[in-house]
Amino acid sequence: MANEADQAAEAEEVFLRVSLLNAQADPNKLEVEPEGECLFCFEPLAKPRRWCDKSCMDDWQAAEDSAMRYGRKSPDKSVE
Ligand SMILES: [Zn+2]
Repeated sequence: MANEADQAAEAEEVFLRVSLLNAQADPNKLEVEPEGECLFCFEPLAKPRRWCDKSCMDDWQAAEDSAMRYGRKSPDKSVE
């Protein structure tokens, strides 16, 4: 017999599995997790967001693209 904790754990597992599948299914989806801060300027953000706005996203994407092009060595950008 399933108690509430079991059901919660099960729901969480389904959620994780679905988000994993979604990430794999969409080749355009960026492989980055929300960190609780903007990935570009490190401004604190609410969890599901990864950038403050489109310009941060675009700049981050541009940096990411050039990092890919140059063989993705360790990022040494010191953006404060
Ligand atoms: Zn930002």
